[in-house]
Amino acid sequence: MTGVPSPDRRRFLAAGAAVVGAAASAQLWLPGTARAAERALPEGLFSLGVSSGDPLPDGVVLWTRLAPDPLDGGGMPAEEVPVEWEVAEDERFGRVVSRGTAQALPAYGHSVHVDVRGLRSGREYWYRFRAAGQLSRTGRTRTAPDPYTSRGSLRIALASCQNWQHGYFTPYADMLAQDPDLVLFVGDYIYESTPSSAGPRRHEGTGEPYTLTQYRNRYAQYRMDPDLAEMHAHAPFVVTFDDHEVDNDWAGEIPQDPGKQSHDAFVARLTAAFQAYYEHMPVRASAIPNGPHIQMYRRLEFGRLLRLNVLDTRQFRSDQVTSQQAATDPSLTMLGAPQKQWLLDGLRDSPARWNVIASQIMMAETDILLGEGKLWYYDAWDGYQAERNALLKEFRSVRNPVVLSGDRHFTMISDLKEDFADPSSAVVGAEFVGTSISSNGDQDQTAFHTQWDPLKADNPHWKVIDAHRGYHLFDIDRLGIDAQVRVVDTVLKPQATASTLAQLRVESGRPGVQRV
Ligand code: FE
Ligand code: CA
Repeated sequence: MTGVPSPDRRRFLAAGAAVVGAAASAQLWLPGTARAAERALPEGLFSLGVSSGDPLPDGVVLWTRLAPDPLDGGGMPAEEVPVEWEVAEDERFGRVVSRGTAQALPAYGHSVHVDVRGLRSGREYWYRFRAAGQLSRTGRTRTAPDPYTSRGSLRIALASCQNWQHGYFTPYADMLAQDPDLVLFVGDYIYESTPSSAGPRRHEGTGEPYTLTQYRNRYAQYRMDPDLAEMHAHAPFVVTFDDHEVDNDWAGEIPQDPGKQSHDAFVARLTAAFQAYYEHMPVRASAIPNGPHIQMYRRLEFGRLLRLNVLDTRQFRSDQVTSQQAATDPSLTMLGAPQKQWLLDGLRDSPARWNVIASQIMMAETDILLGEGKLWYYDAWDGYQAERNALLKEFRSVRNPVVLSGDRHFTMISDLKEDFADPSSAVVGAEFVGTSISSNGDQDQTAFHTQWDPLKADNPHWKVIDAHRGYHLFDIDRLGIDAQVRVVDTVLKPQATASTLAQLRVESGRPGVQRV
């Protein structure tokens, strides 16, 4: 940790011949004062804002990407650019605790990922970047709590599925006002779909992205949504991807349409998509892709209060089946053997009061066949019955398991049952499917309930189902989780009114979720 030099000492150093180190950069933290050695770069280097992510008790990842021409490849020269960063205990940077210089590399789209360590646990910090005399906006972040404490509380927002073309990301404006300690984003950060004039906003480009430059442009467009940019600058995110960061419903190295994309072409697409994903997310170097592979499943600890297991339910899964019979095939896997073992180990050995699983896709059963018999969605955990059921059996011996997921574009809040085939089986956990930020746009609620309410009899584990856009907010302490379904009245306009649609509680030691 670097302290702030006193004003006297700073003046002394600045007057000296060899101005180096922290004191020197403190002198230069003003916009418009590019050093002679710095090449002049276009204005608007920080068009994509700043963000932070994957907080640890002593650190956090700080992110930015230099992109003066964000929708056209970025607009940077093909050379390394030094980017200074600093972290302070106060918003005015009077008490800087850490600073340094990172290199923005052309090979990574001039993105910067600073893995700051040496910070104090459970407290907020402010950070900013500077390159070629240009200063970024200030971001705020928060470290994870002390590793040994289970006291205090944690406020987590659960978000997913933000389709630019379906609406403005208005739920983030309300999320910002709710001031969460952490935003958990469980997939569909971008959509790869072709530009269309049917919705309130239009994707950039001329088609689906396939190349690295095309994916970069798509991420850049999303990153410039003002509500999303504000949220990123206000709290750390923990992110994982689902299908639309690459291609609808892909599985492993199999695209949605194997007839339209050869295996080689799809591997090249995965490679480009993962690289652009890394370049635009506040994640550690462990997530730097290796060709068409990326390491995204990981664990984050929030003291002894909460262990967060972030899954990757895309890269290692078997291809989706197409029949009820096939969905029960015991050879199907959602996680792949290594990730499955990693998850079980992390659940069995956990010292945490709450064991949260961030799953892209829904775990509780969705039976969409009214009356006798069942019909499942095969892309969700229902399509991977044997592995899902084995995991649910395991939940019996896990302390307070809670699954947070997305993908469905509905709020679906459920008890998790040990065996969904047996209506009398035990409740072993709770699941929150956190609707969508904008995907599906403003839905007709009456039509939704006309279609879905009759299915409640087939799915008695459902506690809340709803089709508003929004997110879920969780206040977590040792005794329980208070959950709110926060919804907006519209995503078709840039401003919206938010409200609480439902309040729920998960009691520690009592599996399942109750409506309040
Ligand atoms: Fe989605
Ligand atoms: Ca049924």
